[in-house]
Amino acid sequence: MSNICVVGTGYVGLVTGVCFAGLGNQVVCLDIDENRIDGLQRGIMPIYEPGLEEIVDQNVRAGRLTFTTDYRKAIEKAEFAFIAVGTPSGVDGEADLQYVRSAAETTADVLDHPLIVVNKSTVPVGTGDWVSDIISKRCNHHDLDFSVVSNPEFLREGAAINDFMNPDRIILGSTDKLAAEKVAQLYSTLRCPIMITDLRTAEMIKYASNAFLATRISFINEIANMCEELGADVSEVARGMGDDKRIGHAFLDAGLGWGGSCFPKDVKALAHMAVLHGTHPQLLQAVIEINRNQRRRGGVRLRRSLNGLNDKVIGVLGLSFKPNTDDIREAPALEVIHLLENEGATIRAYDPQAMPAARKALHKVTFCENPYLVAEGADALVLATEWNEFKQLDFRCIFQMMRTPVIMDGRNLWDPAQMRAIGFRYFGVGRGCESSE
Ligand code: NAD
Repeated sequence: MSNICVVGTGYVGLVTGVCFAGLGNQVVCLDIDENRIDGLQRGIMPIYEPGLEEIVDQNVRAGRLTFTTDYRKAIEKAEFAFIAVGTPSGVDGEADLQYVRSAAETTADVLDHPLIVVNKSTVPVGTGDWVSDIISKRCNHHDLDFSVVSNPEFLREGAAINDFMNPDRIILGSTDKLAAEKVAQLYSTLRCPIMITDLRTAEMIKYASNAFLATRISFINEIANMCEELGADVSEVARGMGDDKRIGHAFLDAGLGWGGSCFPKDVKALAHMAVLHGTHPQLLQAVIEINRNQRRRGGVRLRRSLNGLNDKVIGVLGLSFKPNTDDIREAPALEVIHLLENEGATIRAYDPQAMPAARKALHKVTFCENPYLVAEGADALVLATEWNEFKQLDFRCIFQMMRTPVIMDGRNLWDPAQMRAIGFRYFGVGRGCESSE
């Protein structure tokens, strides 16, 4: 059993805290957001993540998990402090490190005993050294024993608890091998490969992994656009490619492109790092551009299909950046909605979890209680996020309800032949020629 403090109670911090508590450790989760901590102390989750509420409740009851806004209280007994604060994009695409800086400074201010600071936030290469510098300059106890370990996180929102408890690998980077080995001990019951490397390499592994996954999606989207012109079906192409063990199936789904709280900012930050250090990130720039165009292409196809978008009513299904999360950061749906609104369309939308967050970001959209109300009287229906509950809608009923039966399946979720047999003008992404729509 170890004493752990987790700084930041977002998607990564809260999951990290509750999972370490579940493994038998004593965990204090710390955040500067008082509402968030107040809610957590009353059992109210600040985010939607399947299974989270139950496991938070179990660990709070077992006395292993507490929440606070007080750094001194949180750090007082900690042997490990995991930093899991946000690292959003700055103005030029660089990672904005203000929250990491503030977490490191405030930790240093209250530090009076040996501590291993573990960085879980996704940060530019070199940040571990910078954090170490901040703490040693700021801390009053100059001979204090502390180390910095980089431990990038790879969990996926929507499957975060399972991903944390069953990781493919744990990456640990540090100049202090003993400190990295102590962090490795915390994960030892998870029975997965643990790789210990230097700080900078660990930081780079995270960026390279996210950039590679984004590249796969942009690659298949580029192939999808060719399929549309050439009459091939990209879903079948991806299946045929993925059966090759050297390629695999993951992240080969054509659609409206990647979004979310990580890929967009991380690809941009990596490209920014490259430029800053005199290398030319040609591939990353193409990956970003293909992704941007993918949303635009969706808008253009809808405009063409409806002979213009002015005064058209468009229904949008799905607002979160992917299923099983309420996270709308850089969600493709939001960008598509802005494009359609800019051309005069009126938007109605539904999402199983993301509507509270979306209401704050989309002021002109009418939010509906279910997919059928979205379709009623609509000129087109756009699928932006492939939630399970959209898989088997009553499309005969939807066909009757719509003003014009046009469907843009931005995630290739539905069967084109079935849709066309009902009478829809259906188009997916990269599924045959426009002429067959
Ligand atoms: P988030 O925005 O959901 O949560 C960040 C939390 O940190 C917020 O609650 C905020 O109030 C708190 N915070 C900010 N400054 C603080 C401070 N000085 N002290 C204490 N708390 C502070 O962020 P997230 O999505 O959990 O991401 C955290 C980091 O993990 C990012 O670097 C991200 O790139 C990385 N990451 C995220 C995911 C993901 O799926 N969300 C996956 C892997 C890695």
